[in-house]
Amino acid sequence: FQFDVYKPLTEESAISLLKKLHFFAEDEHVTCREIGDGNLNLVFQMSTQGSTKKWIVKQALPYAKVVGESWPLTLKRAKIESEALLQFAKFTPHLVPEVLYSNETLALTIMEDLSHLSIARTGLIKGDSYPNLGKDIGTFLAHILFKTSDLGLSPTEKKEKAQQFSNPELCKITEDLVFTDPFFDHDTNDFEPELSEKVEQLWKEDELKLEVAKLKRLFLTNGDALIHGDLHTGSIFASEHETKIIDPEFAFYGPFGFDLGHFIANLLFNALRRPPAQTELFGFIHDTWETFSSVFTSLWKEDKNNPFLQVNGYLDYTLRTVWQDALGFAGCEMIRRTIGLAHVADLDTIEESELRIRTKEIALDIGRSLILNRVEIKNVQDLHEFYIENN
Ligand code: ADP
Ligand code: MG
Ligand code: MG
Ligand code: MG
Repeated sequence: FQFDVYKPLTEESAISLLKKLHFFAEDEHVTCREIGDGNLNLVFQMSTQGSTKKWIVKQALPYAKVVGESWPLTLKRAKIESEALLQFAKFTPHLVPEVLYSNETLALTIMEDLSHLSIARTGLIKGDSYPNLGKDIGTFLAHILFKTSDLGLSPTEKKEKAQQFSNPELCKITEDLVFTDPFFDHDTNDFEPELSEKVEQLWKEDELKLEVAKLKRLFLTNGDALIHGDLHTGSIFASEHETKIIDPEFAFYGPFGFDLGHFIANLLFNALRRPPAQTELFGFIHDTWETFSSVFTSLWKEDKNNPFLQVNGYLDYTLRTVWQDALGFAGCEMIRRTIGLAHVADLDTIEESELRIRTKEIALDIGRSLILNRVEIKNVQDLHEFYIENN
């Protein structure tokens, strides 16, 4: 096995790698299967018969396969991903897969196999129930945001980390696909012709595009904390008891509200898909926000060194900004997942086409109004009332 040159793994070479690294004995019979969806990364699942030893090897590919085309894409993201998982594990080890090995040259990470859990998006579409999901995501976000920001680090440490997690190529994908292309007539957009009229209206709306420009600027310039960068329900493994966050290859120093916004938007997609589950999904949003704000508040109150943290109104201001920005980011995510390059199964697999189109129109309306009204929607209850009005 060659450790000094990058080469995409095969099932066979993945087995010899893990044997070289002593994850398995040389004479062990190992089963290996590639289970990734094959767009950006390879994911190998490896196990031996009659033993509980199971590992996942995730390796970055030097390109992304998108709409049949191949885009070059930096291998550096594998290192960002493994280092972000290690960072997150410092604060909330129970909420991320354990990383056992990583190799920058090979652009791979060996981690705990989580296949006893389900991808939350798939489970939510099927109607599985995840009573801890909101609480766990709220806990995760409060810790990573507080502890990797200037609230939790010295100015020097924070700037070193921000450099370590500079992730320009992956950020560019978000800058284009989330904040730019869906708001203009761009090639990467992808939507049913029935949505054209509504989409063209969006493209004409300067008031909306001005707000998107402000949100994009936040994403570009507001390096608050180490954020996950791609926290949709497909980046979360869950069961009734456990939650594990995976796939932080987009991690970088970005705005506090970004991950929360993406998570909320993806819960809203599921609510649109499953109207009877609406109350449950707003319950998740409620749990996420309540847990986030209470854990963030206790971390804030524990800090006795920073005199500003005792200043009346500063905590409230910070939480209010996180919430408002999150709603704006949620709105952008709702629009881009409906008409941009990357869609969500929650909407795309609605089989009946009239219902699918109607649901996508509502997703666009909600996304648009979240962007425009993010200051007026003060809390989860307002958000729910507003969701009902738009529906
Ligand atoms: P990508 O960046 O290509 O989206 P992900 O990290 O999201 O890669 O993984 C793609 C898929 O591989 C997941 O949806 C899941 O099915 C599987 N997978 C990834 N990590 C694990 C893991 N630790 N345990 C089990 N399956 C995993
Ligand atoms: Mg994928
Ligand atoms: Mg993924
Ligand atoms: Mg990914």
